Amino acid sequence: MNFIETRGNDGQHPEKVSFSQAILSPISSFGGIYSPESLPNLGEGFLNKHLDSSYKTLAKGVLEAFEIDIEPATIDKALALYDQFDDPANPVPVVKVLDDLFVSELYHGPTRAFKDMALQPFGVVLSSIAQQRNENYLILAATSGDTGPATLETFKNKDNVRVACMYPVGGTSDVQRLQMVTEDASNLKVIGVKGDFDDTQNALKSLLASQSFNDKLKEKNISLSAANSVNFGRIIFQTIYHIHSYLELVRQKAINMGEKVYLNVPSGNFGNALGGYYAMKMGLPVEKILIASNNNNILTQLIKTGAYDLRTLAVVPTTSPAMDILKSSNIERILFDLFGKARTKELMKQLDTEKNYQLTDNELEQIQNIFAADFCNDDEGKTYIKNTFANGYLMDPHTATCFKAYETCRDKPLKTIVYSTAEWTKFSPVIANALTGEVDAHDIDALKSIAKEADIKIPAMINELFDKEITQKSIIEKDAIEEEILSFL
Ligand SMILES: *Cc1c(COP(=O)(O)O)cnc(C)c1O
Repeated sequence: MNFIETRGNDGQHPEKVSFSQAILSPISSFGGIYSPESLPNLGEGFLNKHLDSSYKTLAKGVLEAFEIDIEPATIDKALALYDQFDDPANPVPVVKVLDDLFVSELYHGPTRAFKDMALQPFGVVLSSIAQQRNENYLILAATSGDTGPATLETFKNKDNVRVACMYPVGGTSDVQRLQMVTEDASNLKVIGVKGDFDDTQNALKSLLASQSFNDKLKEKNISLSAANSVNFGRIIFQTIYHIHSYLELVRQKAINMGEKVYLNVPSGNFGNALGGYYAMKMGLPVEKILIASNNNNILTQLIKTGAYDLRTLAVVPTTSPAMDILKSSNIERILFDLFGKARTKELMKQLDTEKNYQLTDNELEQIQNIFAADFCNDDEGKTYIKNTFANGYLMDPHTATCFKAYETCRDKPLKTIVYSTAEWTKFSPVIANALTGEVDAHDIDALKSIAKEADIKIPAMINELFDKEITQKSIIEKDAIEEEILSFL
């Protein structure tokens, strides 16, 4: 399968690339990104065939259907990383929480957030290609808190790959920060940036597109790539768990094969939801994808009104910081898929220059045929955490945003799959506050009080963080990022 450019071709970039090229160089003409030229059909035949497959076997089936140019041995090695999840036999448990609400837990990997689902195998695939080609890569990552740890973890000590990871200072939880600043492999660099997530993501995009930066790297014989979800190498692994979660409901006899469900996704950069969109287009029986946001509710605005208007907005910090995003990168792939490259180029250019665009009524209708959206403020989220815990289920504040969309966005009584994107351990002060009312607790104290309240253990990889040495100490202004990265190299 080939990948094509979301904003059309400028005569300099290739018009079509293979999967491996798309993941090594994810930025295409006019600052666009790569999207699949076509999608495989994974309808009921495929679903029936994989009804009793393990996660890894299903994943292999999906990847084979995409016909990507990655050797089977590399794919096997990549998927073997799911064996390190809590339960190798089922890396993604799906738990019944209400009569028609099921939570698909995507956080059972090494860094306790759903980013591991894609970044663990992605790291193997990318470094294997780099080694086979005998090329050296610098991977840039901008993180609102979970991509960073997962990227560092997957590329740690891998040959031919170095990572520069930027996080907004003060924009992450203690645990997320410690997961990054205690990494000490020599191929990793962690940079705290004084700014918000959009500042770090803008820096990343402009470095990727900068000829002079690329030239300076070339002098050192290094090419540039990115680990953010603009990279299709992540998205492809994010189609799989949507299919898995559906099959789990069939296996649990909650639905019959073919019955439609709602997918309910806590969203920021829209990678998770995009994976669901592709799964739906490939034939998964989905009624609609419900997009949950926090007070940074640009996605709700887009899906309800067709307006993407950043002119008066600034990112507001919330208790679900991984979703504190206003420039949601993967919306571009939806626009491209529905409205084509010329319109996508036009809309994205308007967003760059005028900070807003407005879809036509017809375009909005097409969006609303697939998506519905609502946002959940911090107080509402806290109430969902508290009430759901009283019902016997402990969840993190990102997952909690879905409960609002579940209540307001469904117009049919269909089963709903809520995606849980982080373990309670990553956002413990917020959860402790919801459960016990304690305020401003440090992570370590909050972890202990939740563990006691819920009678569960703090996982070892989280506990150990607090005693590790801090090795990554860079904190810089946002205009000094390029220099900092060059000095690391
Ligand atoms: C990254 C992340 C999200 C948002 O996912 P997108 O794919 O960027 O929409 C939600 N919750 C958590 C905990 C995350 O780490």
